[in-house]
Amino acid sequence: MKAALCRLDASGESAFDFYNQTMLASRALAGRVACLTMPNLIDGRAIAEKVYIDLRREIAELKAKDVTPGLAVVLVGDDPASRAYVRSKDKMCRELGLHSLKLELPASTTQTELLNCVEKLNADSNIHGILVQSPPPAHIDEAAIVRALDPRKDVDGFHPENVAKLVLDDPAGFVPCTPLGVQRLLIESKININGAHVVILGRSMIVGKPLALLLMQKNEKANATVTVVHSRSRDLVEITRSADIVIAAIGRAGFVKADHVRDGAVVIDVGINRVDDAASEHGYRLVGDVTFDEVSKKASAITPVPGGVGPMTIAMLMSNTVKAARQSL
Ligand code: NAP
Repeated sequence: MKAALCRLDASGESAFDFYNQTMLASRALAGRVACLTMPNLIDGRAIAEKVYIDLRREIAELKAKDVTPGLAVVLVGDDPASRAYVRSKDKMCRELGLHSLKLELPASTTQTELLNCVEKLNADSNIHGILVQSPPPAHIDEAAIVRALDPRKDVDGFHPENVAKLVLDDPAGFVPCTPLGVQRLLIESKININGAHVVILGRSMIVGKPLALLLMQKNEKANATVTVVHSRSRDLVEITRSADIVIAAIGRAGFVKADHVRDGAVVIDVGINRVDDAASEHGYRLVGDVTFDEVSKKASAITPVPGGVGPMTIAMLMSNTVKAARQSL
């Protein structure tokens, strides 16, 4: 199909755009069909496609000013899951017409070599966003690598300067992609965060903690009353049952059951867990932290896994890269 469309236009680029638009439209349609079968389903794929439509407009505006947003993704080692994540980020960059640099370094790469690589990317004016895929091999000091990033290119939002900006409600900073994706899912689904009691399960630096900070910010897209529970929390079920919005990010397959949520609550499942499944092609399937079948009967809105938060994480990475390019002008 791509080859046929490319023949339509000698310039190539506009035909490629047409191809992308067609792909986007068909994916969005697939999302809408899924929604028709379950009215309370929050369709992350369809919402991500909406984000991409807005981003394409912004990218075109930047290109008109001779700026092509560029993302560098650095992978150290050959962890298959990390390799797959890096591939999908690179693919999405290309689909959107961003400049994409994929650096695959051997597992033997030293801390100094990786720091040198980050320094080069910091100095490269064609690169607006840098991401070092986590987790790196054990001999790498990940925190030191994050600190070495130019905070203006830290599209993952893990640099201490960006964490401080999140705490200070400074919109110029970069917010980690998964929390940002969760907030956008809620907003696009017209779920009122303002004044709601949000209970987040998990306090990691990647999801739980930045998400709590984001949703308690003092603005109309947030203003939530946030409670964070973790592995040492007492009365966890009682707390989650009091939530208007439950967000699970603990990495425990099916942990959140019907008893954890009240009727009509909104449930966002961040978890991605592999469970054995002899019937599936790879011998496993992906499930969330929520037992979907029982919780979806009580929830007023719920995200599936896969197809909920996951697509939004990549969409927010693209969005942060475009923001970095815009802020570089
Ligand atoms: P993490 O760093 O392992 O943190 C897990 C958190 O859950 C910790 O705060 C831990 O508490 C808490 N926890 C673990 N078991 C618990 C229990 N039984 N009861 C209450 N709290 C419990 O994980 P993460 O990186 O935040 O990731 C969480 C999940 O989200 C994983 O499944 C991951 O794959 C997924 N994820 C998805 C996306 C996406 O794009 N959809 C992105 C990132 C992560 P303590 O602090 O007390 O140990």
